[in-house]
Amino acid sequence: MSEEKVRKIKKIQASGHMRKIMADYFYELDAAAKAGSPKVAWCTSVGPAELLLSLGFVVHYPENHGAVLGSTRVANDYIPVANAIGYSPDICSYLTSDVGAFIKKETPLARAYEGIEGVPKPDVLVYNTNQCRDVQDWFGWYSRELNVPALGISTYRNIGEITEYHLQSIVQQIKDLIPPLEKISGNTFDIDKFREVLALSKDCTLLWKKVLEANTAIPAPMSFFDGTIHMGPAVVLRGSPQAVEYYKVLLKELEEKIASKDGAVEGEKFRLYWEGMPIWGKLRDLAEFFIDLKTAVIASTYCNSWIFEDFDPKDPFMTMARAYTEIFIVRDENFKEKYIEEMVNKYKIDGLLFHDARTCPANSNSRYGMPERLEKKLNIPTITIDGDLNDLRCYSEEQAKTNIEAFVEQLETR
Ligand code: SF4
Repeated sequence: MSEEKVRKIKKIQASGHMRKIMADYFYELDAAAKAGSPKVAWCTSVGPAELLLSLGFVVHYPENHGAVLGSTRVANDYIPVANAIGYSPDICSYLTSDVGAFIKKETPLARAYEGIEGVPKPDVLVYNTNQCRDVQDWFGWYSRELNVPALGISTYRNIGEITEYHLQSIVQQIKDLIPPLEKISGNTFDIDKFREVLALSKDCTLLWKKVLEANTAIPAPMSFFDGTIHMGPAVVLRGSPQAVEYYKVLLKELEEKIASKDGAVEGEKFRLYWEGMPIWGKLRDLAEFFIDLKTAVIASTYCNSWIFEDFDPKDPFMTMARAYTEIFIVRDENFKEKYIEEMVNKYKIDGLLFHDARTCPANSNSRYGMPERLEKKLNIPTITIDGDLNDLRCYSEEQAKTNIEAFVEQLETR
Protein backbone atom coordinates (compact mmCIF):
# COMPACT_ATOMS: atom_id res chain seq x y z
CA MET A 1 0.00 0.00 0.00
CA SER A 2 1.42 3.40 -0.97
CA GLU A 3 2.12 6.00 1.70
CA GLU A 4 -0.33 8.37 0.04
CA LYS A 5 -3.11 5.79 0.46
CA VAL A 6 -2.28 5.15 4.10
CA ARG A 7 -2.55 8.88 4.85
CA LYS A 8 -6.09 9.16 3.48
CA ILE A 9 -7.61 7.59 6.56
CA LYS A 10 -7.15 9.91 9.51
CA LYS A 11 -5.49 8.45 12.55
CA ILE A 12 -7.42 7.92 15.74
CA GLN A 13 -4.85 8.29 18.52
CA ALA A 14 -6.77 6.05 20.90
CA SER A 15 -6.09 3.09 18.59
CA GLY A 16 -2.83 2.35 20.42
CA HIS A 17 -4.70 2.11 23.72
CA MET A 18 -7.23 -0.23 22.10
CA ARG A 19 -4.54 -2.49 20.67
CA LYS A 20 -3.01 -2.81 24.14
CA ILE A 21 -6.24 -3.82 25.91
CA MET A 22 -7.15 -6.21 23.09
CA ALA A 23 -3.70 -7.82 23.31
CA ASP A 24 -4.05 -8.15 27.10
CA TYR A 25 -7.44 -9.78 26.54
CA PHE A 26 -6.12 -12.38 24.09
CA TYR A 27 -3.13 -13.17 26.32
CA GLU A 28 -5.41 -13.58 29.33
CA LEU A 29 -7.56 -16.05 27.40
CA ASP A 30 -4.52 -17.92 26.17
CA ALA A 31 -3.04 -18.17 29.66
CA ALA A 32 -6.34 -19.44 31.11
CA ALA A 33 -6.70 -22.10 28.42
CA LYS A 34 -3.11 -23.28 28.93
CA ALA A 35 -3.38 -23.38 32.73
CA GLY A 36 -6.91 -24.81 32.79
CA SER A 37 -7.96 -22.01 35.13
CA PRO A 38 -10.00 -19.87 35.12
CA LYS A 39 -12.36 -21.82 32.89
CA VAL A 40 -12.93 -20.65 29.33
CA ALA A 41 -16.43 -20.05 27.94
CA TRP A 42 -17.15 -19.38 24.30
CA CYS A 43 -20.07 -17.04 23.87
CA THR A 44 -22.02 -15.64 20.94
CA SER A 45 -21.56 -11.92 20.46
CA VAL A 46 -24.93 -11.01 21.95
CA GLY A 47 -25.01 -13.94 24.33
CA PRO A 48 -25.20 -13.78 28.15
CA ALA A 49 -21.57 -12.70 28.60
CA GLU A 50 -22.22 -10.89 31.88
CA LEU A 51 -23.47 -14.08 33.50
CA LEU A 52 -20.36 -15.95 32.36
CA LEU A 53 -18.02 -13.23 33.62
CA SER A 54 -19.79 -13.12 36.97
CA LEU A 55 -19.18 -16.86 37.33
CA GLY A 56 -15.46 -16.32 36.80
CA PHE A 57 -15.15 -17.52 33.19
CA VAL A 58 -12.88 -15.78 30.72
CA VAL A 59 -14.86 -15.40 27.52
CA HIS A 60 -13.89 -15.99 23.91
CA TYR A 61 -16.23 -14.79 21.12
CA PRO A 62 -15.98 -16.91 17.95
CA GLU A 63 -17.68 -14.16 15.92
CA ASN A 64 -14.86 -11.83 16.88
CA HIS A 65 -12.47 -14.49 15.63
CA GLY A 66 -14.56 -14.69 12.44
CA ALA A 67 -14.17 -10.94 11.98
CA VAL A 68 -10.41 -11.26 12.51
CA LEU A 69 -10.30 -13.96 9.82
CA GLY A 70 -12.23 -11.61 7.52
CA SER A 71 -10.27 -8.45 8.18
CA THR A 72 -6.93 -10.23 7.78
CA ARG A 73 -8.27 -11.60 4.48
CA VAL A 74 -7.61 -15.24 5.22
CA ALA A 75 -11.25 -16.32 5.52
CA ASN A 76 -11.33 -17.58 1.94
CA ASP A 77 -8.48 -19.98 2.74
CA TYR A 78 -10.67 -21.71 5.30
CA ILE A 79 -14.27 -21.53 4.04
CA PRO A 80 -13.70 -24.41 1.56
CA VAL A 81 -12.36 -26.58 4.41
CA ALA A 82 -15.72 -26.34 6.19
CA ASN A 83 -17.57 -26.74 2.89
CA ALA A 84 -15.72 -30.03 2.42
CA ILE A 85 -17.20 -31.44 5.64
CA GLY A 86 -20.71 -30.52 4.57
CA TYR A 87 -21.16 -26.94 5.77
CA SER A 88 -22.66 -25.10 2.80
CA PRO A 89 -20.99 -22.07 1.18
CA ASP A 90 -24.39 -20.37 1.64
CA ILE A 91 -24.38 -20.44 5.44
CA CYS A 92 -22.65 -17.94 7.73
CA SER A 93 -19.11 -17.35 6.51
CA TYR A 94 -17.98 -16.54 10.06
CA LEU A 95 -18.99 -20.09 10.88
CA THR A 96 -17.36 -21.69 7.86
CA SER A 97 -14.14 -19.68 8.07
CA ASP A 98 -13.83 -20.22 11.83
CA VAL A 99 -14.49 -23.96 11.64
CA GLY A 100 -12.18 -24.27 8.62
CA ALA A 101 -9.37 -22.46 10.45
CA PHE A 102 -9.88 -24.71 13.49
CA ILE A 103 -9.65 -27.83 11.35
CA LYS A 104 -6.43 -26.53 9.80
CA LYS A 105 -5.17 -25.57 13.29
CA GLU A 106 -4.45 -22.01 12.19
CA THR A 107 -5.40 -18.56 13.46
CA PRO A 108 -4.31 -14.99 12.67
CA LEU A 109 -4.01 -14.54 16.46
CA ALA A 110 -0.82 -16.62 16.31
CA ARG A 111 0.70 -14.15 13.85
CA ALA A 112 -0.48 -11.11 15.79
CA TYR A 113 0.48 -12.23 19.30
CA GLU A 114 3.76 -13.97 19.97
CA GLY A 115 3.32 -17.11 22.04
CA ILE A 116 -0.34 -17.70 21.14
CA GLU A 117 -0.65 -20.85 19.07
CA GLY A 118 -4.38 -21.23 18.72
CA VAL A 119 -7.79 -20.11 19.89
CA PRO A 120 -8.36 -20.91 23.58
CA LYS A 121 -9.95 -24.33 24.04
CA PRO A 122 -13.41 -24.01 25.60
CA ASP A 123 -14.78 -25.60 28.76
CA VAL A 124 -18.31 -24.64 27.76
CA LEU A 125 -20.09 -23.11 24.74
CA VAL A 126 -22.96 -20.69 25.40
CA TYR A 127 -25.14 -19.24 22.65
CA ASN A 128 -28.20 -17.08 22.23
CA THR A 129 -30.20 -17.54 19.03
CA ASN A 130 -31.34 -13.89 19.20
CA GLN A 131 -29.23 -13.20 16.11
CA CYS A 132 -29.66 -16.35 13.98
CA ARG A 133 -29.78 -20.14 14.03
CA ASP A 134 -26.24 -20.42 12.68
CA VAL A 135 -24.71 -19.74 16.09
CA GLN A 136 -26.36 -22.85 17.52
CA ASP A 137 -25.13 -24.99 14.64
CA TRP A 138 -21.71 -23.42 14.90
CA PHE A 139 -21.40 -24.25 18.62
CA GLY A 140 -22.99 -27.63 17.95
CA TRP A 141 -20.05 -28.49 15.70
CA TYR A 142 -17.52 -27.59 18.38
CA SER A 143 -19.54 -29.39 21.02
CA ARG A 144 -19.35 -32.65 19.03
CA GLU A 145 -15.76 -32.10 17.96
CA LEU A 146 -14.37 -31.20 21.39
CA ASN A 147 -16.87 -33.05 23.56
CA VAL A 148 -17.73 -29.86 25.40
CA PRO A 149 -21.28 -28.95 26.52
CA ALA A 150 -23.22 -26.41 24.44
CA LEU A 151 -25.85 -24.52 26.40
CA GLY A 152 -28.11 -21.86 25.07
CA ILE A 153 -31.00 -19.48 25.05
CA SER A 154 -33.61 -19.73 22.30
CA THR A 155 -34.99 -16.31 21.57
CA TYR A 156 -38.20 -15.43 19.75
CA ARG A 157 -37.45 -13.74 16.46
CA ASN A 158 -39.16 -11.19 14.20
CA ILE A 159 -40.79 -9.61 17.23
CA GLY A 160 -42.65 -6.31 17.06
CA GLU A 161 -43.56 -5.45 20.61
CA ILE A 162 -41.59 -7.28 23.27
CA THR A 163 -44.01 -8.60 25.85
CA GLU A 164 -43.77 -9.92 29.38
CA TYR A 165 -44.43 -13.36 27.92
CA HIS A 166 -41.28 -13.18 25.78
CA LEU A 167 -39.17 -11.83 28.60
CA GLN A 168 -40.28 -14.28 31.31
CA SER A 169 -39.25 -17.12 29.03
CA ILE A 170 -35.80 -15.62 28.41
CA VAL A 171 -35.32 -14.88 32.12
CA GLN A 172 -36.07 -18.51 32.96
CA GLN A 173 -33.69 -19.72 30.28
CA ILE A 174 -30.91 -17.48 31.66
CA LYS A 175 -31.55 -18.77 35.19
CA ASP A 176 -31.53 -22.35 33.95
CA LEU A 177 -27.96 -21.84 32.71
CA ILE A 178 -26.68 -21.19 36.23
CA PRO A 179 -26.52 -24.72 37.74
CA PRO A 180 -24.52 -26.27 34.85
CA LEU A 181 -22.28 -23.20 34.63
CA GLU A 182 -21.60 -23.33 38.38
CA LYS A 183 -20.54 -26.94 37.99
CA ILE A 184 -18.23 -26.23 35.05
CA SER A 185 -16.69 -23.08 36.52
CA GLY A 186 -16.37 -24.49 40.04
CA ASN A 187 -17.79 -21.19 41.34
CA THR A 188 -21.06 -20.42 43.08
CA PHE A 189 -23.31 -17.85 41.46
CA ASP A 190 -23.15 -14.53 43.30
CA ILE A 191 -25.92 -12.05 42.50
CA ASP A 192 -23.81 -9.13 43.70
CA LYS A 193 -20.99 -10.06 41.35
CA PHE A 194 -23.55 -10.38 38.53
CA ARG A 195 -24.88 -6.89 39.34
CA GLU A 196 -21.33 -5.53 39.37
CA VAL A 197 -20.51 -6.95 35.92
CA LEU A 198 -23.81 -5.74 34.52
CA ALA A 199 -23.12 -2.24 35.86
CA LEU A 200 -19.75 -2.23 34.08
CA SER A 201 -21.40 -3.46 30.90
CA LYS A 202 -23.96 -0.70 31.15
CA ASP A 203 -21.24 1.93 31.61
CA CYS A 204 -19.47 0.53 28.56
CA THR A 205 -22.66 0.56 26.54
CA LEU A 206 -23.54 4.14 27.41
CA LEU A 207 -20.06 5.35 26.52
CA TRP A 208 -20.07 3.39 23.26
CA LYS A 209 -23.40 5.02 22.44
CA LYS A 210 -21.90 8.46 23.07
CA VAL A 211 -18.94 7.55 20.84
CA LEU A 212 -21.32 6.66 18.00
CA GLU A 213 -23.45 9.74 18.61
CA ALA A 214 -20.37 11.92 18.19
CA ASN A 215 -21.07 11.38 14.50
CA THR A 216 -24.22 13.50 14.68
CA ALA A 217 -21.72 16.38 14.39
CA ILE A 218 -21.00 17.84 10.98
CA PRO A 219 -18.43 16.91 9.83
CA ALA A 220 -18.53 13.49 11.49
CA PRO A 221 -15.30 12.70 13.38
CA MET A 222 -15.27 8.94 12.77
CA SER A 223 -16.34 6.73 9.88
CA PHE A 224 -18.39 3.54 10.02
CA PHE A 225 -15.20 1.74 8.99
CA ASP A 226 -13.36 3.15 12.03
CA GLY A 227 -16.35 2.22 14.16
CA THR A 228 -16.20 -1.44 13.19
CA ILE A 229 -12.66 -1.57 14.59
CA HIS A 230 -13.27 0.52 17.70
CA MET A 231 -16.30 -1.53 18.69
CA GLY A 232 -13.92 -4.40 19.55
CA PRO A 233 -13.84 -3.64 23.30
CA ALA A 234 -17.66 -3.25 23.41
CA VAL A 235 -17.94 -6.75 21.95
CA VAL A 236 -15.26 -8.70 23.81
CA LEU A 237 -14.51 -6.60 26.90
CA ARG A 238 -17.92 -5.39 27.96
CA GLY A 239 -18.32 -6.05 31.66
CA SER A 240 -14.73 -5.00 32.33
CA PRO A 241 -13.29 -1.71 33.65
CA GLN A 242 -10.83 -1.70 30.72
CA ALA A 243 -13.61 -1.20 28.16
CA VAL A 244 -15.14 1.64 30.19
CA GLU A 245 -11.78 3.36 30.47
CA TYR A 246 -11.11 2.92 26.76
CA TYR A 247 -14.33 4.56 25.62
CA LYS A 248 -13.69 7.54 27.89
CA VAL A 249 -10.37 8.05 26.11
CA LEU A 250 -11.89 7.60 22.64
CA LEU A 251 -14.83 9.89 23.40
CA LYS A 252 -12.52 12.66 24.58
CA GLU A 253 -10.55 12.45 21.34
CA LEU A 254 -13.72 12.57 19.24
CA GLU A 255 -14.99 15.57 21.17
CA GLU A 256 -11.72 17.35 20.40
CA LYS A 257 -12.13 16.47 16.73
CA ILE A 258 -15.67 17.87 16.78
CA ALA A 259 -14.46 21.09 18.40
CA SER A 260 -11.82 21.56 15.71
CA LYS A 261 -14.19 20.41 12.92
CA ASP A 262 -11.75 17.65 12.04
CA GLY A 263 -13.97 15.27 10.06
CA ALA A 264 -13.04 11.72 9.13
CA VAL A 265 -13.71 12.69 5.51
CA GLU A 266 -12.05 15.93 4.43
CA GLY A 267 -14.63 18.18 2.75
CA GLU A 268 -17.57 15.93 3.77
CA LYS A 269 -20.35 16.47 1.22
CA PHE A 270 -22.70 13.56 1.83
CA ARG A 271 -23.58 11.41 4.80
CA LEU A 272 -24.58 7.77 4.39
CA TYR A 273 -26.05 5.09 6.64
CA TRP A 274 -24.64 1.56 6.31
CA GLU A 275 -27.28 -1.09 6.88
CA GLY A 276 -25.96 -4.62 7.25
CA MET A 277 -22.71 -6.41 7.95
CA PRO A 278 -19.30 -4.89 7.20
CA ILE A 279 -17.26 -6.41 4.38
CA TRP A 280 -14.33 -7.18 6.65
CA GLY A 281 -11.72 -7.80 3.97
CA LYS A 282 -12.50 -4.46 2.29
CA LEU A 283 -12.74 -2.04 5.21
CA ARG A 284 -9.67 0.00 4.32
CA ASP A 285 -10.35 -0.11 0.63
CA LEU A 286 -13.93 1.11 1.04
CA ALA A 287 -12.93 3.73 3.61
CA GLU A 288 -10.48 5.22 1.11
CA PHE A 289 -12.95 4.94 -1.74
CA PHE A 290 -15.58 6.94 0.17
CA ILE A 291 -12.98 9.53 1.23
CA ASP A 292 -12.25 10.12 -2.48
CA LEU A 293 -15.98 10.60 -3.06
CA LYS A 294 -16.11 13.09 -0.15
CA THR A 295 -18.85 10.91 1.23
CA ALA A 296 -18.90 9.99 4.89
CA VAL A 297 -20.43 6.70 5.96
CA ILE A 298 -21.21 7.73 9.50
CA ALA A 299 -23.88 5.59 11.09
CA SER A 300 -24.91 1.97 10.96
CA THR A 301 -27.15 -0.64 12.43
CA TYR A 302 -24.14 -2.88 12.95
CA CYS A 303 -22.12 -0.66 15.30
CA ASN A 304 -25.29 0.23 17.21
CA SER A 305 -26.00 -3.42 17.87
CA TRP A 306 -23.76 -3.38 20.94
CA ILE A 307 -25.80 -0.79 22.81
CA PHE A 308 -27.69 -2.46 25.64
CA GLU A 309 -29.28 0.48 27.39
CA ASP A 310 -31.78 -1.52 29.38
CA PHE A 311 -29.23 -3.19 31.63
CA ASP A 312 -30.08 -2.34 35.22
CA PRO A 313 -28.07 -3.93 38.04
CA LYS A 314 -31.10 -3.57 40.34
CA ASP A 315 -33.05 -6.04 38.20
CA PRO A 316 -30.29 -7.96 36.42
CA PHE A 317 -32.13 -10.97 34.97
CA MET A 318 -35.13 -9.14 33.56
CA THR A 319 -33.15 -6.23 32.18
CA MET A 320 -30.54 -8.50 30.63
CA ALA A 321 -33.34 -10.49 29.00
CA ARG A 322 -34.84 -7.26 27.67
CA ALA A 323 -31.55 -5.79 26.47
CA TYR A 324 -30.61 -8.92 24.51
CA THR A 325 -34.11 -9.32 23.07
CA GLU A 326 -34.79 -5.79 21.95
CA ILE A 327 -31.80 -5.62 19.60
CA PHE A 328 -32.51 -4.69 15.98
CA ILE A 329 -31.79 -8.11 14.50
CA VAL A 330 -34.52 -9.76 16.59
CA ARG A 331 -37.25 -7.36 15.48
CA ASP A 332 -39.88 -7.25 12.75
CA GLU A 333 -39.80 -5.10 9.61
CA ASN A 334 -41.98 -2.34 11.09
CA PHE A 335 -39.66 -1.89 14.04
CA LYS A 336 -36.60 -1.90 11.79
CA GLU A 337 -38.01 0.71 9.43
CA LYS A 338 -38.94 3.00 12.29
CA TYR A 339 -35.46 2.55 13.76
CA ILE A 340 -33.75 3.46 10.50
CA GLU A 341 -36.03 6.45 10.06
CA GLU A 342 -34.95 7.75 13.46
CA MET A 343 -31.29 7.22 12.56
CA VAL A 344 -31.74 9.09 9.27
CA ASN A 345 -33.15 12.10 11.10
CA LYS A 346 -30.71 12.00 13.98
CA TYR A 347 -27.59 11.74 11.81
CA LYS A 348 -28.87 13.93 8.93
CA ILE A 349 -28.39 11.11 6.46
CA ASP A 350 -28.46 11.77 2.70
CA GLY A 351 -28.65 8.19 1.51
CA LEU A 352 -29.00 4.60 2.72
CA LEU A 353 -26.63 1.86 1.68
CA PHE A 354 -27.87 -1.70 2.17
CA HIS A 355 -25.28 -4.46 2.15
CA ASP A 356 -26.85 -7.73 1.08
CA ALA A 357 -24.44 -10.16 2.70
CA ARG A 358 -24.83 -13.43 0.88
CA THR A 359 -24.22 -15.70 3.85
CA CYS A 360 -25.99 -13.63 6.51
CA PRO A 361 -29.69 -13.30 5.71
CA ALA A 362 -30.32 -12.30 9.35
CA ASN A 363 -28.36 -9.09 8.86
CA SER A 364 -29.41 -8.39 5.26
CA ASN A 365 -32.52 -6.25 5.23
CA SER A 366 -32.80 -5.56 1.54
CA ARG A 367 -34.58 -8.79 0.63
CA TYR A 368 -38.19 -8.01 1.54
CA GLY A 369 -38.70 -4.58 -0.01
CA MET A 370 -37.36 -2.43 2.83
CA PRO A 371 -35.13 -0.16 0.68
CA GLU A 372 -38.03 0.56 -1.67
CA ARG A 373 -40.41 1.30 1.20
CA LEU A 374 -37.93 3.59 2.96
CA GLU A 375 -37.06 5.40 -0.26
CA LYS A 376 -40.71 6.29 -0.68
CA LYS A 377 -41.45 7.05 2.93
CA LEU A 378 -38.35 9.10 3.72
CA ASN A 379 -37.78 10.54 0.26
CA ILE A 380 -34.19 9.39 0.43
CA PRO A 381 -32.19 7.42 -2.15
CA THR A 382 -31.03 3.90 -1.35
CA ILE A 383 -28.49 1.58 -2.88
CA THR A 384 -28.01 -2.14 -2.34
CA ILE A 385 -24.61 -3.71 -2.85
CA ASP A 386 -24.06 -7.44 -3.04
CA GLY A 387 -21.25 -8.82 -0.95
CA ASP A 388 -20.49 -10.76 2.17
CA LEU A 389 -18.96 -10.35 5.59
CA ASN A 390 -16.11 -12.80 4.98
CA ASP A 391 -16.54 -14.60 1.67
CA LEU A 392 -14.99 -12.19 -0.84
CA ARG A 393 -16.08 -14.42 -3.73
CA CYS A 394 -19.55 -12.90 -3.20
CA TYR A 395 -18.30 -9.34 -3.62
CA SER A 396 -17.68 -7.83 -7.03
CA GLU A 397 -15.50 -4.84 -6.31
CA GLU A 398 -15.86 -3.30 -9.74
CA GLN A 399 -19.62 -3.57 -9.79
CA ALA A 400 -20.01 -2.29 -6.22
CA LYS A 401 -17.79 0.73 -6.82
CA THR A 402 -19.43 1.62 -10.12
CA ASN A 403 -22.83 1.51 -8.45
CA ILE A 404 -21.67 3.56 -5.47
CA GLU A 405 -20.15 6.21 -7.75
CA ALA A 406 -23.43 6.45 -9.66
CA PHE A 407 -25.27 6.70 -6.36
CA VAL A 408 -23.12 9.60 -5.19
CA GLU A 409 -23.68 11.33 -8.54
CA GLN A 410 -27.38 10.92 -7.93
CA LEU A 411 -26.94 12.63 -4.53
CA GLU A 412 -25.17 15.54 -6.28
CA THR A 413 -28.23 16.19 -8.42
CA ARG A 414 -30.74 16.33 -5.57
S1 SF4 B 1 -25.87 -12.98 12.42
FE1 SF4 B 1 -25.00 -13.44 10.41
S2 SF4 B 1 -22.80 -13.13 10.65
FE2 SF4 B 1 -23.68 -13.29 12.70
S3 SF4 B 1 -23.45 -15.44 13.23
FE3 SF4 B 1 -25.50 -15.18 12.36
S4 SF4 B 1 -25.27 -15.62 10.17
FE4 SF4 B 1 -23.23 -15.30 11.02
